Amino acid sequence: MEDENGHELSARKVEYLKFIYEHDGRVKTKELATHFCVDVSTISKTINELTEKGLLSHAPYKRIGLSRQGREEAEFFIKRHRILSLMLTHYGFSREQACHEVSRFESYVSKGAVDRICRTMGHPQAGTCGEITHDTGCMGNGIHL
Ligand SMILES: [Zn+2]
Ligand SMILES: [Zn+2]
Repeated sequence: MEDENGHELSARKVEYLKFIYEHDGRVKTKELATHFCVDVSTISKTINELTEKGLLSHAPYKRIGLSRQGREEAEFFIKRHRILSLMLTHYGFSREQACHEVSRFESYVSKGAVDRICRTMGHPQAGTCGEITHDTGCMGNGIHL
């Protein structure tokens, strides 16, 4: 069985969504399988599960696209990774170590917690492995960049 905990996505699925997002929302099943070193049938099963959750959409030429909801979730997953990694660099982790360590637990951290940390850190722009975006969640009502 998948390591699914309640309605949260497993760490693996979070990684898939981020990968699809970073590849312009269009990637082939085979490319995913190669990148994550799993066989195509395993990936296909996961793709079906993500599609059933409404996170993926069908794209032409057997490519995988993100639905609007999938895109929003992927954006959050990327932000969560970068905020938490940046936090660890304040505690003696190198950027590389921070990225690696965070990928071990990031899927357990809620959006509310990420927004709070982002606010406390003063909405940093540069994360350990890319730009950090801010939305109404972390900015709060009536406050603008
Ligand atoms: Zn990273
Ligand atoms: Zn922010």
